[in-house]
Amino acid sequence: MLGARVRWARNLRSRLAQDVAREAGLSVASLSRIEKADESFLSFEALSALSSALSVPMDWLTEEPRAYSSDQGTLFRANSKMTKRSQETVKTWKMLLAEMLATLDRSITLLPTTLVTRKGPVDPVEAATAVRDSMDLRSDEPVGHLMRSLESLGIFIGVHPFDEELHLRNHDASSGWYNLDTGRAVPIVLCREHSSWERTRFSVAHEAGHLAMHRHGSGADREAEATSFAAELLMPHEQLSREWPTRVTIHNLLPLKRRWGVSIAALIQQGYRHGLVSEDRRVSLFKQLSNGRDPATGQRWRIREPGADERQVERPLLIANALEVAYGTPPDLDALFSELPSTRDREWYSDFLPNFSCTWSRNLRNPTHRTPAVPPKADNVVSIIDYADLRRSQAHRE
Ligand SMILES: [Zn+2]
Repeated sequence: MLGARVRWARNLRSRLAQDVAREAGLSVASLSRIEKADESFLSFEALSALSSALSVPMDWLTEEPRAYSSDQGTLFRANSKMTKRSQETVKTWKMLLAEMLATLDRSITLLPTTLVTRKGPVDPVEAATAVRDSMDLRSDEPVGHLMRSLESLGIFIGVHPFDEELHLRNHDASSGWYNLDTGRAVPIVLCREHSSWERTRFSVAHEAGHLAMHRHGSGADREAEATSFAAELLMPHEQLSREWPTRVTIHNLLPLKRRWGVSIAALIQQGYRHGLVSEDRRVSLFKQLSNGRDPATGQRWRIREPGADERQVERPLLIANALEVAYGTPPDLDALFSELPSTRDREWYSDFLPNFSCTWSRNLRNPTHRTPAVPPKADNVVSIIDYADLRRSQAHRE
């Protein structure tokens, strides 16, 4: 039996070690030893007791992991506010996503990853500029759809409706590099489903910063670095300074918000970071932002900034496309499920699938990006072409 799987099952169940140990008739020390060991050999009775205490099939506990985390610890945004336990839970959800990708990578070759990564100390501005270049963006060009752009660099993004009430309310997104048993490494971003488009874009950009700069563990202040990276990726400061209003007010920043796809708060911070806003002005702007109200709804700007309803929240598409290529449109999820390490029913993996399933994703595809009025039969052809297009444009850049 594999220690990693026991730990994962316990994290996904949000169970304490002492409770599981008691139900399985083990001492806490033995359970901890089992969880830490790569592999332990238990009697059939002991294995059966443990699998029933964890409510997982025995098969699941004995199946070799298909993915391994390959970076130095998992990186969290707002990690100081997260308990160790919820960090472990999110980390385990990412493992499951990585295993699903490993399974997909067996049947189709996943899009290669071309994200530029750095070793050693990195200047976030320089790192973000390199990633913008790899997206073929001019310095005066905003990132249109951030998730789609990152996906075209082979970053796999998942969205999960983490239970806010449970214990994950401070978790916006986290990321990591995973080695798949198919022999390749994939960068993964896992976001909590969020209703704010500004916050979703910035969180994902922040995670892209970790993936690009901290794969090998460097960085004195990783959180600040990832945040500067995100700001530069979304609003390059040199261009921003050309467009910066002579008189900075919340109202005057709104056109910049619309153009660059960032929150007014993020604009103020980026302006401050690069000397466009003084400390005093920054404080007063944040005060206005926090006290101001939407004249129409009376809602506080602190909760919903001006422009909060002007864009849709971005959603990923790459994994959905890969599922369609591998399992048809709509994908035969039973076929996928039978290839995944067996859990009870469609448990765990199936929590991901509604988010990746094609009916869901098709509604969110950019209609201008696709030929309308495609006969339904040809749907899967469209997605294969799409996928092939993406790969071709990627190959072209290499
Ligand atoms: Zn972070």
